[in-house]
Amino acid sequence: MTDSVDDLAAENRALRERMAWMLEQAERNHDIMMRHQAFDLEIVGAGSFPELIGSIFSTLPVISELDSVTLSLVDEGDDIRTVMERLGVDFAAYPDLLFVAGTSQLGLDSEPKPLLGAYDAQRDGLRFPRAEPPLQSVAIVPLLRNRRVIGTLNLGSADPTRFTPSLGTDFVEHMASIIAICLENVISNEMLKYIGLTDSLTGVYNRRYLDRRLLEEIARARRQSYDLSFMYIDIDHFKRINDTLGHQGGDQVLREVASRIKGELRLSDALARFGGEEFVVLLIDADLDSAAFVAERIRAGIATAMIDLEGGVKVSITGSIGVACLSGAEGGGDVAADVAARELISHADEALYQAKAGGRNRVIRYATH
Ligand code: GH3
Ligand code: MG
Ligand code: MG
Repeated sequence: MTDSVDDLAAENRALRERMAWMLEQAERNHDIMMRHQAFDLEIVGAGSFPELIGSIFSTLPVISELDSVTLSLVDEGDDIRTVMERLGVDFAAYPDLLFVAGTSQLGLDSEPKPLLGAYDAQRDGLRFPRAEPPLQSVAIVPLLRNRRVIGTLNLGSADPTRFTPSLGTDFVEHMASIIAICLENVISNEMLKYIGLTDSLTGVYNRRYLDRRLLEEIARARRQSYDLSFMYIDIDHFKRINDTLGHQGGDQVLREVASRIKGELRLSDALARFGGEEFVVLLIDADLDSAAFVAERIRAGIATAMIDLEGGVKVSITGSIGVACLSGAEGGGDVAADVAARELISHADEALYQAKAGGRNRVIRYATH
């Protein structure tokens, strides 16, 4: 009798313990789910590529209790990387963002399914370049968009039992599908942004970008009292180039000129193609003298070496440059920024006109009368 009472009590205790454990598990799962829901909302709301990548790398390891989270992205022809860099993304800040040139380099089977199991240094080493502590198990989850593999989400744990081949993959697949949608979304948004701000022929900024940037820079230059200079560059007798080499030859010349101008500039300067064969440069914190000095280097850079065109043709060309300056000392705060911007452009344009009238292939500064 006592025995069976004791048995019952023990059974009761065991049941209670089991209940408590199950409740704890349920609470823990609920917690994890809530954290993942918050994470889903966070990444769906990311407005830019850096914001999304930043969220994935800073939040996911914490909420999923993982020791390493990395992303491998397929970037054929380096398009994503090039555009993001042009938009100012600093990839050094994301060492866990990895690019591969094609899907074959993702190390997936022909059927894109998650790979779960023990960490294999040879197979996974490149995927987890800085894993600390050493990883014991990993999940390599394909990122799919419309049945196309755009990369993999790589999850690593120091716990050997965390990812095993027998583990269900629904959860990681769900997570990867949301990440894939968000990635595709921000990447195409950034591409659109880039297309809207750049000139497709030469890759430099377009007029729309420069007009906007100029307003921002004028406001900043006024606050901090420094000089802004503006350069108007026009290729001499460009009609002849088109007439003798055809439009395609003309386009090649434009691309080469853009790259020669760019070679003379600092990172803070902005180069845009304003239309036709006209380029402009905005120089931050540069007075008229230093802008004229840079302009002279650009002029020489365009004129000195002949341009090699496809088919072995060589042409020599020149350009004329007008330079104007918006002095920080004057403050210039009495006219609206857009009026000041228009004046600065028209002063440089006026100087350019004088350079043309004076015989071309020269730099003229706008002189305040
Ligand atoms: P100037 O020395 O006075 O500047 O003479 P120019 O012939 O360069 O000047 P103008 O402005 O009269 O002619 C510019 C020419 O640029 C007209 C057009 O044939 C050419 N052009 C404009 N846009 C493009 C383009 O996108 N590609 C090419 N290949 N040519 C262009
Ligand atoms: Mg012109
Ligand atoms: Mg011209």
